[in-house]
Amino acid sequence: MRIAPSRLVLATLALGALALPAAAQQSTFRSTHQCGTPQIPRAGGPGPVAAAAATRTIYLNKNGGTYAIANSATNSSTNTASTSVSANGQPRTAVIAPINAQFNWTFIAQCVRDAYARYDVRIVETEPTSGNYVEAVVGGTGTELGFGANQLFGIASADNFCGVTERGIAFSFSGTHLGVPQQDRELCATIAHEVGHILALEHVATPADEMSYVGVSESGAWPKSFIDMSSQCGTTPQQTMTNCSCGGTRSNTHQRLVQFLGLRATETVPPTVTITSPTAGTIARTFTITADATDASGIAEVTFKIDGVAIGTDSSPEGATYSVEAVRLAEGSHTITAEALDLANNRGTASVTVDVSFDCGGCGDGQTCVEGECLVSTGEACSETVPCAGGTCLQNQAGDQFCSQPCSLDTDDCPSGFACADIGNGDGTGVCNFSDDGGCCSTGDQDGQGPFVGIGLGAIGLGLVVSRRRRRK
Ligand SMILES: [Zn+2]
Repeated sequence: MRIAPSRLVLATLALGALALPAAAQQSTFRSTHQCGTPQIPRAGGPGPVAAAAATRTIYLNKNGGTYAIANSATNSSTNTASTSVSANGQPRTAVIAPINAQFNWTFIAQCVRDAYARYDVRIVETEPTSGNYVEAVVGGTGTELGFGANQLFGIASADNFCGVTERGIAFSFSGTHLGVPQQDRELCATIAHEVGHILALEHVATPADEMSYVGVSESGAWPKSFIDMSSQCGTTPQQTMTNCSCGGTRSNTHQRLVQFLGLRATETVPPTVTITSPTAGTIARTFTITADATDASGIAEVTFKIDGVAIGTDSSPEGATYSVEAVRLAEGSHTITAEALDLANNRGTASVTVDVSFDCGGCGDGQTCVEGECLVSTGEACSETVPCAGGTCLQNQAGDQFCSQPCSLDTDDCPSGFACADIGNGDGTGVCNFSDDGGCCSTGDQDGQGPFVGIGLGAIGLGLVVSRRRRRK
């Protein structure tokens, strides 16, 4: 029977830590990477590796989620991980919190991309809707899986240790990295390390290798990488193993990734990209941009820009079609650009110039055109889905809701059929109320007036219920 080396290390450290004061305990724990991944080869070996398989996808998930830890195969698409990642080996439900706000995610995500830049993988930040993908969960503390606070930097659910777990899940606990020296670099290294376990890698002792336990600030080696050299297996130069878990007495992490993933394509032909919608001409202010992108080595993602400013990236195409929503553009001319990035890091772009018009071209009954959008007119019933043109929804004492708008008590600038009602704002403003029967504002008068009469001050105060529409300067 093989005792998982990493578990053994943990037990040793845990015992040693008991004798240390709290501060020393923390630094002992956190200056070195602690990984809970059991290095247990699958019975019968890693199983077949599809040579030149399609580009694999790694999904970086910094948003947390609920994961079932179960006696079953790991499956990233159903958020299921095996009980090998549970502290007591038992099934449980793990609710992982999103990454802590103290981390620089832009840096970390790019750092992980750099770590895998040489290999044939696609790294995305939106969850794929189909196909196999490896999920890197970045958040939580490890206590969700039953471990102690500050016990683990990460743990991988690698069912096929020594091979690729095609739907593997790698947990990297951001909470455990809080306050660690160079915490962004260290968290990046943990993500690369735990994903490495999913992709057939075991621990090696070489400090600058992603698969060692040696911390970035300990070794001074930055960036860490998957080093193309034959390393001793083990976790640090002080903790080596005579025999590796996955065969032989040494391991070359770079060559193993080349074997199991393949090298990234190196062609230099930019992707072909075409914006299919919108086409040049006049359009409304909110619309969907769609573009088709293709490339011999595959598309990594398509980024969309309006007037040079990125508004969204799509890495989960429908076939070859990528899309994002453009919402509430300003009136006038805008240049829309789709920039496709292929897996060999070539970029191709397409642009189209459109003219956003605030002319609604006619709205339906009971609607008013406001800055290019058909909204509910003052006096009409408020809608759950369409804002009021005047920005205010009132409720009368009968419980009916109708659209209104702010007004000036001095000039009574309400539309015809309405009058400005004082609701006690104290600043000379009120809201437009029905003026049937010749007046407004006769608060408390319940009889003989229009359909929304009898709006008492209190009722209106309570009645500003639905929405103050987003006002534009
Ligand atoms: Zn590890």
